Amino acid sequence: MDYPTDLYINGAWHKTATRFDVINPATEEVLASVASADSADADAALDAAQAAMADWAARTPRQRSEVLRRAWELMTARLEDFARLITLENGKARSDALGEATYAAEFFRWFAEEAVRADGLITHAPASGARIIVQHKPAGLAVLITPWNYPAAMGTRKIAPALAAGCAVIIKPASETPLTMLALMPLLEEAGVPPGLVNVLPSKRTGALVDHMLHDPRVRVVSFTGSTGVGRGLLKSAADQVLKPAMELGGNAPVIVFDDADMDTAIEGTMLAKMRNLGEACTAANRIYVHEDIAPEFTRRLSAAMSALRLGDGTDPSVDVGPLVNAATRDKVAAFVADAVAKGAVLECGGVVPEGKGFFYPPTVLSNVPETADCVQDEIFGPVAAIQTFTDQEDVIARANATEYGLVAYVFSGDFKRALQVCERLEYGMVGLNRGLVSDPAAPFGGTKQSGLGREGGHEGMLEFMETQYISASW
Ligand code: NAP
Repeated sequence: MDYPTDLYINGAWHKTATRFDVINPATEEVLASVASADSADADAALDAAQAAMADWAARTPRQRSEVLRRAWELMTARLEDFARLITLENGKARSDALGEATYAAEFFRWFAEEAVRADGLITHAPASGARIIVQHKPAGLAVLITPWNYPAAMGTRKIAPALAAGCAVIIKPASETPLTMLALMPLLEEAGVPPGLVNVLPSKRTGALVDHMLHDPRVRVVSFTGSTGVGRGLLKSAADQVLKPAMELGGNAPVIVFDDADMDTAIEGTMLAKMRNLGEACTAANRIYVHEDIAPEFTRRLSAAMSALRLGDGTDPSVDVGPLVNAATRDKVAAFVADAVAKGAVLECGGVVPEGKGFFYPPTVLSNVPETADCVQDEIFGPVAAIQTFTDQEDVIARANATEYGLVAYVFSGDFKRALQVCERLEYGMVGLNRGLVSDPAAPFGGTKQSGLGREGGHEGMLEFMETQYISASW
């Protein structure tokens, strides 16, 4: 696959004086040198987006829908190419990358279907009898900022609903993984996306670039996926112009396995929740609470499943687990394990950084993890399963909720009544019940508490890019 490396503004490629390197995490070799945008480039992108949006917003929903549908068809025909590029720049194994490419493409199909369903409302005002007319209109120019863990899907999860709503966008991909988003642009052109509607600005001057755009009066929406710390800062910047914020932030997902759970389902679900994307996911299982009576069997079986995974360069199709994205992420994961072991956790498998090139860390299981361990308080963001035990239902609910995060929780139980009661008590935007995977373009993805604001996917996803207008009418 021949991939572009320059800025994408107004449907054309732009070189810059300053560039930065993208590293292949499996080999530590330079994969590409990518253009780095500055404020002048942002102004050019804003001009182009503003001009393109007028025509796009005036198109019928069906016309917008058909462009998105075509984008889904084109991407679906090129999943292998996208998967390979995702693996090269992010490191994840081919199976994870293919899963991501498929998921990313699905947002175009889902929002092609949603584009024609921006339903409004007409009703009588109870007191005056006037008509209340409610309709949704495009919110305006949107700045989209995405992380490195899903270079394709975190972009399409924002681009597709924005376009469905009638908005133009400027997307700032993560510096670790800008290539996939740039590679998507020729595909969008082919699908019929007009020049200027979608612009891509990789940059190494991220803070200044984004801040500049968030203070341009033409921008009305900021949609961010990334860490809670950066999200807090963006919310402060967004306040200056009272922008519409959508924030998909960090997580610290608990998994609760009751003693009445089906063991095969619990192991399979926990493996999926922990190892999808090698643990580099906001939805990754971070704290695994297992009922004391079944903890020995659960730990033995989870360790066997983790040890059976093959670690290596993700481009090799026999590999299950690729490298982490960079040295800092690998070192942070290693530090979490060392800290937990020093505080009394038992290393059941893994835990040794392999020698040689690449930011590899092996699938690892820790049992008897104390509540004070750093990996209980923070996102691990790597292939480490940290097991704790519980005996009392009320106690485990309290422990699961004892975090500033509220993105996703997982519950495994054979007693549906009890399981639903527990799900309702969990302070999380999403719950996987006897399932280790919740992400679905057709469902509202998002968190409570400091895991974020707003939802992506589902019907709600498009409304994040729309304003509600109410007309009080008499006739
Ligand atoms: P990050 O450091 O917050 O970076 C995310 C994006 O923000 C990147 O494009 C980054 O650009 C940019 N950025 C960094 N500093 C910025 C600033 N001062 N102003 C504006 N933009 C800035 O997060 P990450 O390490 O890439 O991603 C991991 C985090 O994302 C985890 O916490 C994970 O839980 C979260 N996440 C959440 C969801 C969700 O849906 N809730 C999904 C996936 C990931 P540079 O790359 O140029 O620094």
